[in-house]
Amino acid sequence: MTEDIWKNSYYTTTYKVRLYIKQLEYLKLTNNIYNELIKKYFDILYEKQELLDMSSFNCLAELERLTIIPKTGPRKGEIPELYFEQDAPLYLRRAAINQAIGNVKIQLSNEIRAGEKKQKLPTVPKAFNHPTIFYKGMYKELKGNSITLKLYDGVEWKWVKAKLAKFEIPENAEILSPTIVIYKNYILAHIPIKQPINDITPIRFRMQKDNIRVCGVMFTNTDKFAVCVILDENGKFLKSKFISGGNEFKERTGKIYGKIKKYRKPIKKDHSNYWGKLYKISNHYAHKVSREITDFCIENNVKVLSFADYKNNDENMESNYKRRVGLFSPIGLREKIIKDLTYKTFKEGILITKVRPNYILRRCYKCRGVIRRKIKDRKETEKFRCKNGHEGDYYFNGAMNVAIMCLKKFGKEIQIQD
Ligand SMILES: [Zn+2]
Repeated sequence: MTEDIWKNSYYTTTYKVRLYIKQLEYLKLTNNIYNELIKKYFDILYEKQELLDMSSFNCLAELERLTIIPKTGPRKGEIPELYFEQDAPLYLRRAAINQAIGNVKIQLSNEIRAGEKKQKLPTVPKAFNHPTIFYKGMYKELKGNSITLKLYDGVEWKWVKAKLAKFEIPENAEILSPTIVIYKNYILAHIPIKQPINDITPIRFRMQKDNIRVCGVMFTNTDKFAVCVILDENGKFLKSKFISGGNEFKERTGKIYGKIKKYRKPIKKDHSNYWGKLYKISNHYAHKVSREITDFCIENNVKVLSFADYKNNDENMESNYKRRVGLFSPIGLREKIIKDLTYKTFKEGILITKVRPNYILRRCYKCRGVIRRKIKDRKETEKFRCKNGHEGDYYFNGAMNVAIMCLKKFGKEIQIQD
């Protein structure tokens, strides 16, 4: 299998960049026209639902044929069947049509669902409020600090330059249609950036390569969010990393969560502010931990990452566990970290494979002997001892087991050194 076959795959990230424009009114007028167009096309499609059986491309072409006066061809100048007056560039219409197609599909599936449950049918929306997506032809000169947009000034359409907060456009990247979102006090440009992925060799081919390295990760409910170990293809230990911050996370969230619990009764307070803070802190730590794991893999040329598959093992066990340890604990953040990690590693061409969670923390990685956690002051410590006398860090042992299981999963012969 040659490696070139697995090249040429892409991923898309969306940058959210502040946009500054003097002619905010033009932007708002354009957005109004965009939403009026969506409404008009929504109504047409809602009447002519048979159009939805076509491919999106053909549906779009048919809607254009039904509503736009042709500028060329044999029907040039003829007024089409469902013509309505609206001075708007073709590419704004196209964006609006695509949005309308999406909205009608949602509406119809909601109606079907309500019908099945014998509930009241959802009402047809009277208006829409979508942010404008600027297709090619509606924007130009999109650079790392500015963009030129085609906007309506109340009389005509004209090109207007807007400033963007500085952002890096990566090499080899392709910029896709930006969406401009107007908030109360600021404006954001959502700019999708399409980039090639470093390496998309499927995992089973990847594992056949020489000198493959795997990283095993063990998530914990201690100050160590995660323990990572790197093994070579023979199971030889190369490096480890302990990612801490769990206690700090617990403390920061605990203070806020305490306030929510304190004021729950008898007065029901609006806690959205506190929940918002908890959400932000959780995101911050999930991002930080997943970033550190990803960087650890990149620095050490790891191509395969592995952790235990808790979700598929026993969903009840997982949710019981979570209830017991609480959502705002290091282990409660595990799913969020994994979600971030999946995305970050994929971009870097690192693949994830999960292993079964059984025995990971109950067996010694060196001899498979049953292990016991050491007790100090009647409390379980983070050290272990196996029945054959091996000792070490309880979670390090877990991470080693994960990495070993990952190698075995792909038929690697492993020699564990004593
Ligand atoms: Zn042992």
